[in-house]
Order: sequence, then C-alpha cells, then structure tokens
Amino acid sequence: MDMPVPNPVGRLPTGHRIGGKVVESRDTLPILNPSDGGEVGRIARGGADEIDAAVRAAQAALDGAWGRMAAADRGRCLTRLSELIRRDAERLAQLESLDVGKPIRQARADALACARYFEFYGGAADKIHGDTIPYAEGYTVLTLWEPHGVTGHIVPWNYPLQMVGRSVGGALAMGNAAVLKPAEDASLSSLALADLAQEAGFPDGAWNVVTGLGEEAGAALTAHRGVSHISFTGSPEVGTLVQAAAAKNTIPVTLELGGKSPQLVFADAEMDALLPTALAAIVQNAGQTCSAGSRLLVEAPVFDRVVEDLAGRFAKLEAGPAERDLDLGPLVNASQQARVQGYIDLAQQDGLRIAGQGRIASNAPEGGYYVKPTLVADVDPTHRLAQEEVFGPVLTAIRFRDEVEALRIANGTDYGLVAGVWTADLGRAMRLSRGIRVGQVFVNNYGAGGGVELPFGGVKRSGHGREKGFEALRGFGVLKTVAIRHG
Ligand code: NAD
Repeated sequence: MDMPVPNPVGRLPTGHRIGGKVVESRDTLPILNPSDGGEVGRIARGGADEIDAAVRAAQAALDGAWGRMAAADRGRCLTRLSELIRRDAERLAQLESLDVGKPIRQARADALACARYFEFYGGAADKIHGDTIPYAEGYTVLTLWEPHGVTGHIVPWNYPLQMVGRSVGGALAMGNAAVLKPAEDASLSSLALADLAQEAGFPDGAWNVVTGLGEEAGAALTAHRGVSHISFTGSPEVGTLVQAAAAKNTIPVTLELGGKSPQLVFADAEMDALLPTALAAIVQNAGQTCSAGSRLLVEAPVFDRVVEDLAGRFAKLEAGPAERDLDLGPLVNASQQARVQGYIDLAQQDGLRIAGQGRIASNAPEGGYYVKPTLVADVDPTHRLAQEEVFGPVLTAIRFRDEVEALRIANGTDYGLVAGVWTADLGRAMRLSRGIRVGQVFVNNYGAGGGVELPFGGVKRSGHGREKGFEALRGFGVLKTVAIRHG
C-alpha cells in the first residue's frame, strides 16, 4: 500500500498583501504546475483598484512608522527577514519549484540567495552616508540620501525569490515603501515573503504585493502617479512600455532586461574549468536566465575539440519533473516551450549543425513543458540563433579567428548584459574586459549574475541602471544638497 506523501508546501498563499492585510479579488488566475500542466490553485487577479490601494498603503507607511524608523532599525527588519527566510527556506524552495518547475536543488539555492540579499541590505541600511562639500566662506554644504518614496517593482518568473530579494531588498534598505507585482506565472514565493516580512516586524504597508496580469496590474502600477520609481526586470519589449509609462510621470526607472551573453574562449583557456562552466551557464534553470551564457565564441584551433566535448556533455543531460531534480526541469509555461522549440526547429530547418542534444525523461508527464537541451555549432554570427534571446537551454557555438574578430562578434548583438573571457593571457583579458560592451565581465569564470555584492545590469537593449551591491542603493535613493549660510 502507498504511504501518504507529506505535502512539503502546505496551503498555497493566495490574495494580495496590501497594508498588512490579505485582500482578495473577485477574479482569479490559475496556477499551473509546469511539470505536468495541471492546475494546483489560483491567485488573485488584481487591477487598477488593488494597485491604487497598495500605493496608498505604501504612502501611509512612509507618512507613519516606516518613514520615521531609524536606519539601523530598518536594517534590523531586513536582517530579521533574512533569518526567517533561512528558517523557512525549504518551504519557500518547494513553493518556487511547484510554481515555476525548478529542480528543487536550484530552488533551494534561490531561497538562500534571497536570504543573502536581505542580509546584505540589512547590513547596508545604516551605512548610506552623504558628503560635505567645500564651498564659499561662511557656508556649510552637505548632501543627504533620501528614499524616492513609493517604489514599484515588477519582476519576471525565472528567479522570483532572487529577483524580489535584490529589487525590494535594496529599495526597503533605502527607506522606500514597496509595491511588488510578481509575474503571473510565479507569485507564490512573493506572497510568502510578504508574510515573512510582516513577521519580521516591517510596519503595515512597507511591503505590498498585488498579483495579476502584466497588462492589468503591472500597467496600472507603472501609470500610478503616487509611484516615484519603477524597478522592472523582464523582457525588452515590456521594458520599453514601462519606460514610456514612467516618462509620462517623469519618474526614473531601472530596466533589467534580456541578454545574449557571450563567452569568449581562447586556445590557451583552462579547459577543465571552462567546459563544465559553459554547460552550467546555459543549462541552469533550463536556460531561463537573463545572464545565461548562450553564445560560446571559440578560437578556431580548439573549436572542434570544445564542441565535441560539450556535445558529449549535452548528450548526458536529462529534463524532467521538478521533483525528480534532474539536470533540467520543464520551462515555465506552454508559450515558452513553443517559443524555445521554435528556435530548435529553426536551427534544423536552416540546416545548422545540431552537435549535441539531451533527452526528456521517459516518464516525464505528457502535459509538462519540456524541451531537449541543444547545442548548435558553426552558427553564423548574424543568424537569429546567434542574435536573439532564446531563453531556453540552447547553446550557440561560433568560431572566431582572432581577438579582433572575437570582440566584433561579442559586441555584434543588440544586447549587452554579461560576458565571459577565458584566456591565460592577462593583457588580452583586460583588453577584452574593457572592449566588450556589457555590465559585467567574468574572466576565467562565469558567475551568470551571481554575487549579491556585485553591481549588475546592462547596456544597450539589456537595460540601464544597476541593481545588487551598494550601487543599487544609489539608484533607490535621491541625493539632496543642503547649503547652509551661517556666517
Ligand atoms: P515579461 O517582460 O513578459 O514580464 C515581466 C514582468 O512584467 C511580469 O511581472 C509581467 O506581468 C509584467 N508585465 C507584462 N506586461 C506588462 C505591462 N504592459 N506593464 C507592466 N508590466 C507588465 O518577461 P518574462 O517573460 O516574465 O521574463 C523573461 C525576460 O526577463 C527575459 O527577456 C529575460 O532576459 C528577462 N530577465 C532579465 C533579468 C535581468 O536582470 N536583466 C533577470 C531575469 C529576467
């Protein structure tokens, strides 16, 4: 007889979190399990009314206990939250895994990274100092860092726990009050975090969550006149809409958008370090990572050897249900599956070389959103596979002759998020680190955006502004200059 399976998730959080209360909406949206396509629950479908209530609650927090709180006490709220996230890490990981189909190991790592964001920003909250500026005789001039006010946060579904940690964590440390609109495919962990924030002692309204569709709740948040800053992470297409909406209210935006990040591999690279890293950089989270290493640029003399080795590694990969914790889980939803499969089909139609391909586990449920991880080799740098963000486990290998050509190909897309440079030649590593137009360069490693302390963000169509590290705090604050004439 089968033993009953303990449910590690418990009850799924539902409703919005507005002013410290759970608020329901009349309409709801389904929560689909990407591993089998089945409905596991429903979230509230908020719109302009719920956003308005959340912005008012956030403003009330700023006018009240949250706005008056000393920086050190604010920091303590964040630090306590990080401790509660560690306490509940397993539940958060299980929720995330169920919601977005992540293998549980990845979800556990995400929960700990989320805790680390609040720990980092908890420690930073009372270390944001202004300057004094030498000026005319009889004057003292100083600068004050202040919060924007109510900040809006719109995050995607690929790393919900991490995205919320880095976006909301920095904003709260700076003293803003936050209204968060998570992705419609990934709201559960955001709701669970808001509940933990309440337990950690954040005053009501400091942290609000409104769930719902991007074009409804998201658009209402970007248009609301009570919002003073928007932090958006998502696609370039929606990022453009968000920036246009923010422009109407003349407020700043941080845009963390997509990427087509290159890794440049020279013949003198340390192959034992490169090969597993190159694989992980595209397989992690089933390739649904903004900073995925999705273009592998390899110097001609070692191209065939690198591709052959990676092809063998791809052939061993298996995609399957999140709870089986294989190399890859499913993609997040049916439209992403169709999109990524479309790129694999395109490679075949255009006669590109499929050098290596993994498999979908034989017992993976029919309704799950799986694709086979795929290595495509000898791709022309102008081909769509080498230009467009696939956002799936598809690695494009491109051959180059020398450093000049490598740099031209690396810079030859609309994106500029992250790059890796693999070489034993320090001079070349430094020339390329300066020459590649991206926001982060990794030399002889590839962090794929990792490192809470490291400022992160893009150039070109990958966006603008920086999150993570201390730098994010400057973005979440405004500098005021005070000139005192005292004689
Ligand atoms: P998306 O742009 O479709 O959605 C992101 C968020 O925007 C969601 O919460 C969605 O509900 C909301 N949204 C949609 N339409 C909106 C509108 N009109 N107004 C306001 N909000 C709206 O992106 P996605 O498919 O969820 O995520 C994938 C994309 O995110 C990829 O391009 C990926 O590279 C990017 N991404 C970037 C980073 C980074 O830090 N640079 C990190 C993760 C993901």
